[in-house]
Amino acid sequence: MSESRSDDPEQLENNQSDQEQEFDDQQIDCVDCGKPFVWTAGEQLFFRDKGLKHAPKRCKPCKKAKNERLDAVMKAQEAGVKQRVEVIVNCAKCGVQTTVPFYPSQGRPVYCRSCFLVKNPETLPSDDG
Ligand SMILES: [Zn+2]
Ligand SMILES: [Zn+2]
Repeated sequence: MSESRSDDPEQLENNQSDQEQEFDDQQIDCVDCGKPFVWTAGEQLFFRDKGLKHAPKRCKPCKKAKNERLDAVMKAQEAGVKQRVEVIVNCAKCGVQTTVPFYPSQGRPVYCRSCFLVKNPETLPSDDG
């Protein structure tokens, strides 16, 4: 009993592009300057290799600027210098825009200087003779 059974010579040449993820250049709006920048296919591949799941948020100049900012903070901390922070907030009472030398915690009201003094009169120098 000889049964000549030829194996299916047809090659499986489908679903190749299904598995292999193709990268295309993507355009992303920078969160810092708002300008669109191109996230190239090569960079996407690099990100995937590094196991990074999130796309970059900043264009290269902004990323560099941010790194430099962080660097400066790091260096200042290493040198024991206190960074002077200035955070722009709106006063919880009068709504005026003001800057505070700290990062306000969420849900905590922040007051402008005059409202703060009204709330905390004991911080005023008592010179009302
Ligand atoms: Zn930017
Ligand atoms: Zn105020």
